[in-house]
Amino acid sequence: LVREVHRAEKLNVVGQLAASVAHEIRNPMTSIRGFMQLLYSSKNLTEQERQYVTISLDELNRANSIIDDYLSLGREYKLEDQQRIDLAFEINRSINSLSSYANLRNVKLTFQERKPAYIIGSAGRIQQLFVNLIKNGVEATKGIGEVTITLDQNEKEVIILISDNGVGMKPEQIENLGLPFYSTKEKGTGLGLMVSLRIIEDMGGGLKVHSSLGSGTTFEISIPFKR
Ligand code: ADP
Ligand code: MG
Repeated sequence: LVREVHRAEKLNVVGQLAASVAHEIRNPMTSIRGFMQLLYSSKNLTEQERQYVTISLDELNRANSIIDDYLSLGREYKLEDQQRIDLAFEINRSINSLSSYANLRNVKLTFQERKPAYIIGSAGRIQQLFVNLIKNGVEATKGIGEVTITLDQNEKEVIILISDNGVGMKPEQIENLGLPFYSTKEKGTGLGLMVSLRIIEDMGGGLKVHSSLGSGTTFEISIPFKR
């Protein structure tokens, strides 16, 4: 028993170290992003050079969201982060932050607001959740893709659908969803769904998936209203 406690403490130290390293890496990345954006708005760039800058910014965003996913795994959920969240606002924000990523891949992002909806939660975590799921939708598409985000609610809960017309999933893939490091992508981390699930479950919600091979996938998030 003593040994177990010891091991857990060690793990915790490693976790904290990893978290602080990740945190420190963000500062230089932020300054790189700033200069890249300045470069992007320069008038003297050729089309080709502008493309290189776009790809660099895209990859910077990718590195940032990997860090976000790792960091949030080691972090306890803090109640003081909670606030009233306008979900339409947050969905639009995630769509905006993914617009160049989607454009590069010929994917159209559409938002259908059936009903406005508000919940109590952490805006940062909600962003992470939406970005992870919308990104997966974008990455699943081939040719001319479409990812549609629908916001709705019933008496008890908010419903958010994230639907793509992408490759869909085999039963085996559906089975493995949410397992750490499960990824079928060359550059995948297999953390996105695990983190997303945790964010949803911390709000007392649930995640359902409807998918068929070849015709697309819909993730259905439900979050109960707080009483
Ligand atoms: P990653 O995106 O890094 O692979 P995720 O945890 O986000 O990790 O997703 C895990 C796996 O689930 C993906 O590699 C893919 O096989 C499958 N997946 C998730 N979302 C979709 C989707 N919208 N369409 C098809 N497959 C998906
Ligand atoms: Mg992913």
